[in-house]
Formats: sequence, structure tokens, C-alpha cells
Amino acid sequence: MDQNSKDNSKKSISIQRMHLIMMAVAILLAVLLLYATYSVMEGYDILQKATDQYIELETSTQNLMSASDYLTESVQGFVVTADPSFVDDYFEEAKVSRRRDNALDTMEKTLAGTETHRYLEEALWYSNNLMEIEYYAMRLTIDANGMDINDFPEELQNVTIRPRHAWLSDESKRSIAIDLVFNDEYQRYKNNIRRDVDLCAGALVSDARNSQRQSAAHFREVIRRLTICIFLLLLSVLFMVILTAKLIIDPLNQGIRHIRKNELFPVTGSSEMRYLAQTYNDLYESSRKEQETLSYEASHDALTGLGNRAMFERVRNDCDPATTAMILIDIDYFKEVNDTYGHETGDQLLKRAAKVFRASFRSEDCVCRIGGDEFAVLMMHSGSHLKALVQRKIELAQAQLKEAENGVPGITISVGVAFPDRENPTEDIYQDADTALYKVKNAGRNGLAFYE
Ligand code: GH3
Ligand code: MG
Repeated sequence: MDQNSKDNSKKSISIQRMHLIMMAVAILLAVLLLYATYSVMEGYDILQKATDQYIELETSTQNLMSASDYLTESVQGFVVTADPSFVDDYFEEAKVSRRRDNALDTMEKTLAGTETHRYLEEALWYSNNLMEIEYYAMRLTIDANGMDINDFPEELQNVTIRPRHAWLSDESKRSIAIDLVFNDEYQRYKNNIRRDVDLCAGALVSDARNSQRQSAAHFREVIRRLTICIFLLLLSVLFMVILTAKLIIDPLNQGIRHIRKNELFPVTGSSEMRYLAQTYNDLYESSRKEQETLSYEASHDALTGLGNRAMFERVRNDCDPATTAMILIDIDYFKEVNDTYGHETGDQLLKRAAKVFRASFRSEDCVCRIGGDEFAVLMMHSGSHLKALVQRKIELAQAQLKEAENGVPGITISVGVAFPDRENPTEDIYQDADTALYKVKNAGRNGLAFYE
């Protein structure tokens, strides 16, 4: 391959390099896609956790209200009916279930110090304040109904009846107890608890909405990035397809078309394709030159450069027999030249004779050396009307060869001619030209005879 084509292939795009770059781009985009997918999953987890947390906090907030209402119902039930099972229910809720305290604990875990947490804290504070009133109402009820205080929880045993109530009648104590848990102040406390719980629930809803909005914004951003990645991936695939078509498939198809037409491979496409094409073309050229040399050697005489017998036979078969004349020329006493001057001089003589014969006829006429000292001329587009012309050509050649030249001795030649329109033709014009030649030889050589 010449330097120029090598430089060309250096300048053109290498599909291997492009392939590496595209692979790196594809890997990068795949990593970005995976990262975006991971972000979606992460966003979904955050949203789910926020929803679960909202449900949990909302439930505990409502639990605080329910627990407070349950305490109210139990205490009210006890002061009205004096049924101790209400006290059991009350303390079961206050000390065992502890829904109110649990609600605040749950809130503290995630929203400590926030406004939401403060609302619930305040609600519990009101509820605890109410409990003091409730303890006192229950203590009064126990006392009014003559029940044994030791049968009740320690919290009630620790409540001391105020001196101004100690001497009141049982009936009065009962009505004070009832009043304590039904009066306006009690209801105000209850309303405060309800208001704080509602505010807390409202804040929770607003927090949940905020985190939903943040999640939605996060999802939108991630999906936007995902879309860009997919678009870029699609673009890179398209680019690769176009590049492969331009750099490999098109040049290959073009090359195949040219090979079918027995032409050179066009040097286009990637540097690798160009290298392949150039290599093929170099091989093609050298094989063509080899073929040409072989076919030249197969059809030409190495010594004189004239066509050989094979060429003579081929041209004879291909030409129009109706317009082709046959001229056979044989050097006279050539053996003697060889014997006298040596084989090399004989060769020089053959070359000189060949040159003279080639110059004597037109380029369209086929002049061949068909044997040792035997030459044949196939004269195209001729007939017996050219007899005088042929005679003139032969006489000129004879005159030239008669003279010695550069150490090559002069010689005579015998020539037999057969025209396509000769009289008494046999089937073979060669045979007839040979008959004419034989006639000259027999007549003493150095002459020309036409077959008639
Ligand atoms: P004639 O007049 O009857 O043709 O006699 P001639 O001596 O020419 O006899 P002929 O044509 O039969 O012999 C041709 C001779 O040419 C025989 C051979 O030694 C010689 N010869 C054949 N090929 C070559 C060659 O390539 N170089 C040389 N120097 N001589 C050759
Ligand atoms: Mg001879």
C-alpha cells in the first residue's frame, strides 16, 4: 500500500475508536439511568414513609382525643352511677393503655420541637389538668357513697377532701362531684383539648401535603432526567447505527458491487474499511499485472516480441476469412547462418527480420513468428486486388534484409501468399500459402509466389 493511502486511513474515522467512545457513552448513560431509577425508588420510599408516618401520627393524635373522651365518660359514669367498674376503666386507660402518653411519645420521636408537637403537648397538659379535677370528683363520690377508699387506686387514696367539702352531706358531695365533671370549666378544658388536637391534626395534614409536594417535585425532576437519558441513549444508538451504515455497511455494499463488475474496491468508510479496500486493490492490481504478463508471454514470442503461433491461431480463428490474406515467410538457409555466424547472430537476424516485417505491414495486420525461422502475416481487409501492394511490400523487405547490418549478415527470404479470393482454393488458406512458399523454395528460394 502506498504512503498516501496509509496517511488517508490515518485521517479517516476508525470504527474501533468510535466503537470504544460509543461504548463509554452507552455505559455512562446506563449508569445515569440506573441512578435515576434508584432515585425514583428512593423517592417512592420517602413518600411511603411520610404517608405511613402521617397515618401513625394522625392515629395517635386521634387516640389522645379518644383516650381523653374515654376518661371523661368513665369519670362521668362513676360520679353518676357510683359503679366502681368505671374507675377500673378509667385507670385501665390512664395507667395501662396510656394512649394519651403514647401519642405524645410517638410525636416526639419524629416531630419534637415542632408546632405540631407543641399542640399535642398542650392538649395533654389540659387533659392532665382535667385528671386532677376528675380524681377529686371520684374521691368525693367514693366518700359520698360510703365506699372503702382502700379498694381504689393509690392515686385516689392520695386525694384529700378539701375542708369546706368534708362536712357536707353525702348528697351535696355527690352533686359537687357531678358538677365538677359536667360544668362549664370542665367543658372549656375539653374544648381546649379538642381545639389543640384539631390544630395538631391540621398541622399534620399540612406537613403531609408539604412532603407530598416535595416528593412530587423530586419525582418530576428525576423523570425529567430519566427522559433526557433515554433520549440521549436513543440518539447514541441512532448515531451508532448511522455510523455503522456509513463507515461499514455502505462501503461493503459498494465494494461488493464493484467486485461483481470486476472493478477496484472504492476506498471509503472507516480507516479499517479503507485499509481493507486498499489492500484488496493492491492485490487486485498485482494479480491483474501478473495475469497480463502471463497472457502476454503465452501469446508472444520472447525473442522478437511478435505474436507466437498461439496468437496466430487465435487471430486466424477470430478474423473474417473472406477478407483476410495469408502470407508465409521463411528465411533461406538459416541453418547456415547459425552454423557460420553462431546462434546469437542467428537470433539477431531473427530480431531484425521481425522488425522489418512488423514495419512492412499495417498495425491491424497480425505479424507472427510461427516457427524457428518462419513468419506469418494475416492481412486484414485484403484480397487479390492488393496483389501489387503486397508484392511491393515483400520486395522492399527482401531488399532491406539482403543488406548486412551491424554484423548481422544479409539474407534472402522466400514468401508464399494466398488471398481469400484466390483461384482454385483448397479448404485451408494456410495450406495454400504454404504451397506457394514451397513453390518458391523449390524454384531456388529468394522470391515471392501467389497461390493461384
Ligand atoms: P531453407 O532454406 O530450406 O528454409 O533452409 P533452412 O536452413 O532455413 O532450414 P529450416 O528453415 O528448415 O531451418 C530453420 C532453422 O532455424 C533450424 C534451426 O536450427 C534454426 N532455428 C530455429 N529456431 C531458432 C532460434 O530461435 N534461433 C536461432 N539462432 N536459430 C533457430
Ligand atoms: Mg528456413
